[in-house]
Amino acid sequence: GAKRVTLLGLGAMGTALAEALLAKGYGVTVWNRTPGKAASLVAKGASQADSAGAAVAASELVLVCLLDYQSVHDVLCDAQPELAGRAVVNVTNGTPGQARELAAWASERGATYLDGGIMAIPPMIATAEAFFFYSGAQAVFDAHRDALDVLGESHYLGEEVGLAALYDLALLGGMYGMFMGIAHAYALVGAAGESAGSLAPFLARWLVGTDAMVVGTADRIDRQDYTTDVVASLAMQSAGYVNHFVAAEEQGISAELLAPLDPLMKRLVAAGQGHADMAAVVELLNTRKEGN
Ligand code: NDP
Repeated sequence: GAKRVTLLGLGAMGTALAEALLAKGYGVTVWNRTPGKAASLVAKGASQADSAGAAVAASELVLVCLLDYQSVHDVLCDAQPELAGRAVVNVTNGTPGQARELAAWASERGATYLDGGIMAIPPMIATAEAFFFYSGAQAVFDAHRDALDVLGESHYLGEEVGLAALYDLALLGGMYGMFMGIAHAYALVGAAGESAGSLAPFLARWLVGTDAMVVGTADRIDRQDYTTDVVASLAMQSAGYVNHFVAAEEQGISAELLAPLDPLMKRLVAAGQGHADMAAVVELLNTRKEGN
């Protein structure tokens, strides 16, 4: 079939997506609010549309990669008459609720909608490291899979359109949590005059080892069984956790990035869960659950 793709948004990410498609021989029509950003892509063979509507009219597949959902609404509102019959694939970062709302809006205008989450930074696009989550219209995913696979490894999660944003935010949340630990670790040794580089190889080795924690925690949650063979009980970890605060005080750093976990562990120990695994903390985070 015609290998045509329209791309709305030429920021750092949109430009990387357009370049990847051009490199694979796709006919790419681009539009960006600031038109000058299209110059390098036009030099590589892209067609530049002079309005978002003209860009949407140019291809059945419309990739949207803008700053946030407000900008997506601004841009797609201008292209409303052209949306009917289009397959809109929006990879702009957002929430599950925003994805559901936009999917309904697009469907009212005759477009089919697939939501996407990009698990990569621009230089990783079209390399083996990049992967994408998709959810929503499976027909769009199936019909345009070849173009989507150019960008990175595609993972279709289901018709529930909020799933891609949900998985995307879950991975980012995990990353930011890990960054909090990394920042704390470097602040602690730095306050004692140790270079970050002297800790780095050990920290990297330690964190890579936590993949067992990722898998083991999932297994306990899915079995709803937080018992442990008492190699690392909550009671033991909770008792030792105070050392982070005492050491931070001794070294003159703030332990605020580690602080939120402390009361959660204490609550479980006080409730008689001291024998359990740390994974039990997850149960406390569900604010719709009785008692939380
Ligand atoms: P940039 O800040 O580089 O680009 C933002 C884009 O949005 C530009 O094209 C900008 O247009 C456009 N824009 C912003 N506001 C409006 C508006 N009101 N109307 C029309 N256009 C608007 O961001 P990125 O390209 O890096 O990111 C794009 C999306 O990709 C984001 O949702 C981001 O979260 C996601 N993403 C980015 C990653 C990254 O590492 N960069 C990684 C994973 C996801 P203009 O040029 O005119 O300013």
